[in-house]
Amino acid sequence: MAYIHNLGFPRIGKKRELKFAVESYWRGEINQDELLEKGKAIRVENWAIQANAGIELLPVGDFAWYDHILNTSLLLGAIPKRHVNTDGSVDLDTLFRVSRGKSPSGCACAASEMTKWFNTNYHYIVPELSKDQSFGLSWQALFEEVGEAHSLGYKVKPVLVGPITYLHLAKCADESFNKLSLLDKLLPVYQQVLKKLAELGVEWVQVDEPVLALELPEEYRSALNTSLAALNEQGVKILLASYFDSVKDYYEDIQHYPVAGVHFDCVAGEQDLAKLNQLLNDEQVLSLGLINGRNIWRADLSSIYNQIEPIAQSRGDNLWLAPSCSLLHTPVDLEQEDKLDAEIRDWLAFAKQKLQELKLLKLAIENEELTTLDLYSEPVKARASSKRVNNIMVQEKVASLNANHGKRQSAFSERVKKQQASLGLPLLPTTTIGSFPQTQAIRQARKEFKAGIISAAEYENQMQAEIRYAVEEQEALDIDVLVHGEAERNDMVEYFGEQLEGFAFTQFGWVQSYGSRCVKPPIIWGDVSREEPMTVSWTQYAQAQTAKKMKGMLTGPVTILFWSFTRDDLDKPSIANQIALALRDEVVDLQNAGIDIIQIDEPAFREGMPLKASEWQSYLDWAAYAFRVSASGVKDETQIHTHMCYAKFNDIIGAIADMDADVITIETSRSNMELLNAFEDFAYPNEIGPGVYDIHSPNVPDIVWVKSLIHKAAKKIPVERLWVNPDCGLKTRGWEETRAALENMVKATKELREEL
Ligand code: GLN
Ligand code: ZN
Repeated sequence: MAYIHNLGFPRIGKKRELKFAVESYWRGEINQDELLEKGKAIRVENWAIQANAGIELLPVGDFAWYDHILNTSLLLGAIPKRHVNTDGSVDLDTLFRVSRGKSPSGCACAASEMTKWFNTNYHYIVPELSKDQSFGLSWQALFEEVGEAHSLGYKVKPVLVGPITYLHLAKCADESFNKLSLLDKLLPVYQQVLKKLAELGVEWVQVDEPVLALELPEEYRSALNTSLAALNEQGVKILLASYFDSVKDYYEDIQHYPVAGVHFDCVAGEQDLAKLNQLLNDEQVLSLGLINGRNIWRADLSSIYNQIEPIAQSRGDNLWLAPSCSLLHTPVDLEQEDKLDAEIRDWLAFAKQKLQELKLLKLAIENEELTTLDLYSEPVKARASSKRVNNIMVQEKVASLNANHGKRQSAFSERVKKQQASLGLPLLPTTTIGSFPQTQAIRQARKEFKAGIISAAEYENQMQAEIRYAVEEQEALDIDVLVHGEAERNDMVEYFGEQLEGFAFTQFGWVQSYGSRCVKPPIIWGDVSREEPMTVSWTQYAQAQTAKKMKGMLTGPVTILFWSFTRDDLDKPSIANQIALALRDEVVDLQNAGIDIIQIDEPAFREGMPLKASEWQSYLDWAAYAFRVSASGVKDETQIHTHMCYAKFNDIIGAIADMDADVITIETSRSNMELLNAFEDFAYPNEIGPGVYDIHSPNVPDIVWVKSLIHKAAKKIPVERLWVNPDCGLKTRGWEETRAALENMVKATKELREEL
């Protein structure tokens, strides 16, 4: 009979207990023993939830104080030299020093870099490996946790990040070298880990190799063969786990891997279940990831049942059922959401519910009985035809979109002349990215407003006072293009989601983003439309306070899409186009209210890139189109800005040009303007505002430094097309440092205007 297992459970706790525990440890409010106890309590609760849902093999090793890749580095003894204790030992504070650059004990040295885990919004700590790297078992947590679970009577399956994925994600600490050259040194440590697990009585170990979702160079493919051969026969059975996309390019290889089982993600990418079944022999375990581990929708169990029923018949015990990937990317428990609209709630399933879905599937297979599944799947079917979900007007509008909707009236070369004439800006115009410090007073006001303690009118008054304050500050600083400061926005996606139709918000739908940071993505459940203007009155109010130009501020369609849980019943380009049409109306309304400059932020543009390089272009095409739809309803004189804060443009520069924003502001200061090379080499035609200082640090940039950066920029981009601005928004900074930094930015610009 089919067996059910799980690849990983959210580690943050039902109410973000892990976050609060580690943060109070960092502040010195609890000691290490207390922290360890809290972590243990979360693991115990997580195993209980999973066991109660009927999961037969519980994951161990999915818990992490900060990040599971960092756990792997500690396990393997790959710790940056600057963070190793003088006696060579590794402890919990070592872990926090690598991840944060500081910890309650030990010296403060630069933290390791952090970056996105494949195409998710989870960030891992990038392993730093040197050419002469050595490895050695250095961290016992995994074995201790296995012991912990065994003592509770659970049957477990430890989870390891596989050697090839580990090397693929690592960066070269010193000069660059072929990371795969370290494999020979790495594999013996993995073998040691497996042997130790075998000694503890472990039967199965899950080895995660999500690199299989990528289009890998040949040498990585052969390294996978080498690696899996080395992991074979170490006393445990290996379940190789792939996820996040189809592994169709590697069917041949997979057929020959010496592993006891393979897990496939049957949700992401195209999957042919019959084909997957054929890949493995009868002795091997076929694990099918049928329940979406990346989303929050209730599964249509009846239709899943129909797909797997023939396989279940033939494969028996060697068919395992699981979520598509670790449930790390879903919120913990829907039962907590008592404020959610009841109909929408019935459409959802969080981590705990997804495991219950697996159990229903298993029971149905055992009993050859579909009634329960049909009953369970009813809300899914109801959602498909719900009038709330389907808005015919929106659907018709999206269906009638054509190339012209993605085109401004004239080409940039024409627009720029009209804009220069009408805007009257100086050489090197100065501006900011949108937000000003979100002070305690602002947060407090919003809290009180949401709790009904202050009225809407009082809240509006306070926000208007904040806007006046931001405008006065900017006028005193003599910035050229002002912003209203985004005081009224808690979050750049939530603010719009709350005003658009088709979005829902949860109370506890948190997922880990990095370390102790969690995000609570909105849920897009239906066709998106705008009932009324969302930003016009604030922006108009701000414009009324100044004779200078006020820049309107919106979040773009691609970013709203990727920072939400999206529908599984509609393709992403269509969802993006719906959002784009709503924003297009907003952009036109802003223009008609007298706002001549409008910024549409797209910080998530890069993030949406598919894992397989061969699919990039089609993504970039629809993403740039959606942006242009949002931006192109205006006349030539209206200047459209966009903003993206990250440090890699060379592979998407064509798409950036394709977006055709009049001005793009980007994060460049930490790259020393190197990042502009991509724009220079491409001969990017429109205007650019390369960030001249890092907003992540409270340090105030000095005038000479800012000038030198602008000089560098002007060597790459004609100075007539340059803007001067910080790297990103200033909401996390205080007013004092913000004022000082902007003052230097403006002074540097003024001196340069004289000199250039
Ligand atoms: N306009 C937003 C702000 O200034 C942009 C934030 C972002 O790029 N992440 O905060
Ligand atoms: Zn930014």
